[in-house]
Amino acid sequence: ATADSGASTIFDKIINKEIPSTIVYEDDKVLAFRDVNPQAPVHVLVIPKLRDGLTQLGKAEERHGNILGRLMYAAKIVAEKEGILDGFRVVINNGPGACQSVYHLHLHVLGGRQMKWPPG
Ligand code: 5GP
Repeated sequence: ATADSGASTIFDKIINKEIPSTIVYEDDKVLAFRDVNPQAPVHVLVIPKLRDGLTQLGKAEERHGNILGRLMYAAKIVAEKEGILDGFRVVINNGPGACQSVYHLHLHVLGGRQMKWPPG
């Protein structure tokens, strides 16, 4: 199987509350929860509740414009709620070359420490 098999992932279990997560923000389209292996004091994942083919950003089509905008706006809401608006980073790892491990589109919202650039 390829990395992106199109199969459902552990994030569907999180959406369906079949496995626990610490939810930071939720609305009808978007769920944001703390990463289980945080890379910064604040590390939140923002995902669409309906994957709709968006296993990775590289699969985006024009019809996904609305949800992509909602995810980006939710990242700002998370940063605001977490008190990191003065310095935060939004990351999307796309594909094996970027170490994507879960094939359900997700934004990483990172902050709470000085973020270095380039990230490596
Ligand atoms: P990726 O490498 O695909 O960009 O990021 C996937 C992220 O999902 C990783 O940072 C990993 O720690 C996180 N993750 C994987 N499984 C779980 C889980 O079951 N619960 C939570 N909260 N995060 C997870």
